[in-house]
Amino acid sequence: MADRDGKIWMDGELVEWRDATTHVLTHTLHYGMGVFEGVRAYNTERGAAIFRLREHTRRLFNSAHIMQMPMPFSEETIVEAQREVVRANGLDSCYIRPLAFYGSEAMGLNAQGLQVHVVVAAWPWGAYLGDEGLKKGIRAVTSSYTRHHPNITMTEAKLTGGYFNSMLAHREAQEAGFDEAVLLDPYGFVAEGPGENIFMVRDGVLYTPPLSTALDGITRKTVLELAREEGIEVQEKPLSRDTFYIADEAFFCGTAAEVVPIREMDNRTIGAGEAGPVTQRLQARYFDVVAGRDARHTDWLDFVYQD
Ligand code: PMP
Repeated sequence: MADRDGKIWMDGELVEWRDATTHVLTHTLHYGMGVFEGVRAYNTERGAAIFRLREHTRRLFNSAHIMQMPMPFSEETIVEAQREVVRANGLDSCYIRPLAFYGSEAMGLNAQGLQVHVVVAAWPWGAYLGDEGLKKGIRAVTSSYTRHHPNITMTEAKLTGGYFNSMLAHREAQEAGFDEAVLLDPYGFVAEGPGENIFMVRDGVLYTPPLSTALDGITRKTVLELAREEGIEVQEKPLSRDTFYIADEAFFCGTAAEVVPIREMDNRTIGAGEAGPVTQRLQARYFDVVAGRDARHTDWLDFVYQD
């Protein structure tokens, strides 16, 4: 990824993609305390639009606040930086990655006083779990790894170091021949995917786990709002893995993953083993909203090529 043409926003200015480098003694590289976001822009009739840009930026600053990382830029600057990298790279549909990390002034566990750097990159990124997965659904498996206890890494911060747990779970699932992992929380209830929130449908009711051990996903919030608009009853409550086995439908959602049906979990077919009607309805609504085809939600879109 490092050797390509393009621009990356780095500490206040656009630099050549290849020159956006940092020292090997960068603190975050050693100890994993950095905060980041995953944001998407979609091509609309009015050009690229970043979906819920301000909410993502707010979460980045909240993550930094949780981690006591003083952000050296204002939220408004980081909002504008994300718009700027999309424009500077001439992108329409793309993924945007803001990251804040500690510099290389010192080693050791005391990060106080270290410089905080902020970068924003953007690149085209297709369906995270594959185009076929989006249509036909994916096969998920309960992970042998547990999601972080909130007193270990604090699950509301999108923390770089938190993702080694996601990586272990994702790799384990893939090596066992599945598409994605489902992580249980320390109490044994379904928490989320390695990079996705999770939902299930039973008897027309939409269920999702509460936020105690899952990230407060912006796609999750979007799906909940769209479901309410569709008149679908929604319940947030602890769900055991076997409630998923007997669900009519299930799906993952996230900025990268979008809305992906889960057709099988732990070798049990979920419902009819395909994208169910509620999932399809919410997925279609989601793709209409992000692509600017739903006049009710253009306030969630930030049009990059317009002021
Ligand atoms: N949970 C985890 C662990 C994630 O990494 C993500 C992706 N950011 C999500 C849930 C979904 O969050 P969002 O919809 O805001 O992308």
